[in-house]
Amino acid sequence: MHEMGIAQQLIQIALDSIPKFIESPRVEKVNLRIGKLASVVEHSLTFCFEIIAKDTPLENARLIIEVVPVRVHCKSCDHQWEVTGPVFKCPFCEDGEVEMMTGREIEITSLELAD
Ligand SMILES: [Zn+2]
Repeated sequence: MHEMGIAQQLIQIALDSIPKFIESPRVEKVNLRIGKLASVVEHSLTFCFEIIAKDTPLENARLIIEVVPVRVHCKSCDHQWEVTGPVFKCPFCEDGEVEMMTGREIEITSLELAD
């Protein structure tokens, strides 16, 4: 289960980004962007997050996950599109020179602190 490692990293990043001047901070929400191809199972991540977040300012924080679609870019004709199936060929010029732009990210976009 690689979600444990991901949860650990996310918590580290979140804790580091809480301003130091806030006394006993409490995080209410963690907004995340997770690519469709990052192969993260949402309920496993939430489960691991809850375990690791215990006794930190992130305890009881809710994970708000935005799933990022897979977008690719054709290097030959500069066309960009969203991939929904396994086909990675450019539908315009039929070239194979296609690179992935989004779809694998796992990142925190923002934290919402309780007052
Ligand atoms: Zn193309």
